[in-house]
Parts: sequence; structure tokens; C-alpha cells
Amino acid sequence: MHNESRNESRNESRNESLAERVGMQNKLLSLEGRRHSVETENGIISTNGIELIIEYLHNIGLPELPFWWCWKYDVPTKLEDGSKNPEEYVGSLPKRIARFYHKEHKCKLSTESKTHIGNLAAQHTYEDAYYYFDFVQTFNWERGEFSDSTSCFWTERLEAKRIMEKEENVWAVRFFSGELPHHAGIARAWIQARKDFLIIFNGYWEDVINPTLEISKAMSLFFDCNYKQISLRNQGEVKGTLWINGEGSGYVVGPKKVIKNFSKLDLEIETAKQCCLCDANIYDDRDGFSVSGRLYCRDCYHDQFFSCSECGSVERIENSWYDSDDTVYCEECFNRVVVCCWQCHNEIRKDQANQTSFSQYLCDVCARRDSVFVKCSHCERYEFTEYVRKCGSDLYCILCQPTKQGVENVS
Ligand SMILES: [Zn+2]
Ligand SMILES: [Zn+2]
Ligand SMILES: [Zn+2]
Ligand SMILES: [Zn+2]
Repeated sequence: MHNESRNESRNESRNESLAERVGMQNKLLSLEGRRHSVETENGIISTNGIELIIEYLHNIGLPELPFWWCWKYDVPTKLEDGSKNPEEYVGSLPKRIARFYHKEHKCKLSTESKTHIGNLAAQHTYEDAYYYFDFVQTFNWERGEFSDSTSCFWTERLEAKRIMEKEENVWAVRFFSGELPHHAGIARAWIQARKDFLIIFNGYWEDVINPTLEISKAMSLFFDCNYKQISLRNQGEVKGTLWINGEGSGYVVGPKKVIKNFSKLDLEIETAKQCCLCDANIYDDRDGFSVSGRLYCRDCYHDQFFSCSECGSVERIENSWYDSDDTVYCEECFNRVVVCCWQCHNEIRKDQANQTSFSQYLCDVCARRDSVFVKCSHCERYEFTEYVRKCGSDLYCILCQPTKQGVENVS
């Protein structure tokens, strides 16, 4: 009786559950940063499980179970004081159901049916009476802290953890042995929040047969809604970067009317883009280069393109121009910025070149070759030594040579 009334009150509140009132993403945001708890009765079958068993009995053509039916997995044959349990139906749920139909309806349940009911009941029975958990979006715990010592997201799939951390609708739900800070971690799973339901996957819980299911049961209890197993992929893959445990098995938690038709979902989390030339995975924007709408890995980009040091434009490598310092330019900038040393023909930047009196440029090395050129004291252009004229201590190029007296030939 107690269990039944409890289930009734839950059915009423389900008319407008938390999950239906607010978007799940906002809901989780508002719950972040502290521990929560939810309580059930040890050994009781979840509302979800009860529905599945009732549905199964209906499907195999059996009349309904009475309203007073006890939905615990096990009703002990003996009471705590050792005396016989006076209840009419005792033992495991499949055994009690079989006895009920035999006694009341004179029909015998097949072994197969009993096994099926037993499996449903076992799967949907709460393993615990109390669940303590939090929701986080930073996944910075040590591998193994939440029974997840076998998770590959801490080793060869570290990238997956990083990718999920960047997704604004992905959380970890982490379970603890109690509600206080010193209570240690015991379990965890990933959650992707959708508008009005959650996807739960890759659960870890030591000694629990199906951790993701157990976590989903606790979440459905907390959010007061249903849960259901689905086939889960990410970008069509089970064993991609974002590896999904249980050969691609996940759970949805949400209002029954929302999740009842789901059987297959995709997380649709972008894990990596590919280089358009060599197919290499590009995980990070910094490792990928986009040119005219196509994405290249670092190596292919540098094989194919260059970026002009002057104007920054990206062009194909065959259009690149280099100066003698190996600085790269587009053709236009090269023509504007780079000049050729008149003496050694090295290509040098105009703004660093030395001008001559005869409208040419010299590199520093050639200009300082004393025996050949001299710097004009007036215009600072370089002049052939033989044409330089001296006036006092000043040296003049051919263009600046003073007409006044006292000018000497240097050579
Ligand atoms: Zn490439
Ligand atoms: Zn340029
Ligand atoms: Zn030179
Ligand atoms: Zn001069």
C-alpha cells in the first residue's frame, strides 16, 4: 500500500515535471556548483521499470496486477525477528507474479516470461537508497577518482575530454558516497543536455552491472521523469574519437512523451575536421588553415601557400617572391618594397638600402666597401670615390658638389 500511494503521488507530479518546465541546459546550469541528493527505497523497482513490467504482462495477454501489488524486487520470506512473513506473496518479483497468476487466474507463466520479468525487475531496481551527486563542466579530476580508472578519455582519447569540455551543453554527473565535501567519488557519467531531455552515456560505477543505467535511474528520480535505453553515436560513430561505451549504448532521461519514440540518437559533437588534401585530423583551430573555404593541415598549408610578410595576403607558393634574407612577399609587395643592390645584385628592402647619386641602391656590404664608394656628407647618397670632391672635412657627391672655391679632388 505504501509503495502504491508513493507511485501515485509521483504520477501526479509528473504532469509538470522539472524537465518539462525548463530547458535542461538552463536547469543544469542552475544546479552546478553544489552537491544534490535524491532518496528512494532500497530494493524498490523504478516507476519506469514498473511500467515496462505492466506493459509486458499486458502484451502476453495477462490481466492487470492488483493495485496493492508490492513493487519491491524482493519480499523476504522471513521478518527481521526470524518469524515467517505473513504476506501472501513473498520471494522475488517474478516468483510472486507467477504465483499470483497461478492462484488467481489459474494460468502458468512460462520460464521465458519469468526470466524476462526477472531481468526487467533486476535492471530497474534501485541499487541504493540515497544518491549524492553534482554536475560539473570542468573535467579536471584524476582518472579513477569516480570509479573511472578504465576510461580512455584520460589516456589515448584525451582529445575527447577536451572537446566535450568546450561543449556548452555537456556535463559530467559525479556521484559521491555522501553529501559532505570529504565524501569520496564513487561514480560518474557524461550528460548532454538537450532542450527537454538528457542523454547519459559512459557511466562508471564500481560493482554496478550497468552504471549508465543506474545513473540514469537516479537522474530520472531527481528530475522526476522517465528514462530509456537508446543506441547512441557521435557523428555516426561508436568508436571514434568520442568513444561510446557498451557498443554505443546510452540512455535518455526526460518526460515520457518526449523520449518514448527515441531509439537512436547522435550526440553531434564535432570531434575533428579533416585536411582537404591529406585527410589528417585537425582538432584545433590553431592547427588548421582555411584558404578559400577549404581547410588544410599545417604541413599541407605550408606546402601549398605562403602569407606575404608585407600585406599578409595568402597566395599559392608558386607566386611567392623572396628577398636575400628569405623574407617572402607577394609579387606586388615585392616590386614595391624590394630593390636590387647595384653592385652584388642581392635583393634587399628599399627602406634598408643605401641610395647612390646615380639612382641605384647598394646593400650595406657593398656601400661600405671604402675603396669603391664614399658617402656624401650633404645628401648621404653614395658616390664613386673617384667622383667625390672634398671641401674642408666634408665629402660631396657629384650632385652636391659646391661650386665655390677650395674644392679638392679626393683621389
Ligand atoms: Zn594535410
Ligand atoms: Zn603583399
Ligand atoms: Zn650589394
Ligand atoms: Zn650628395
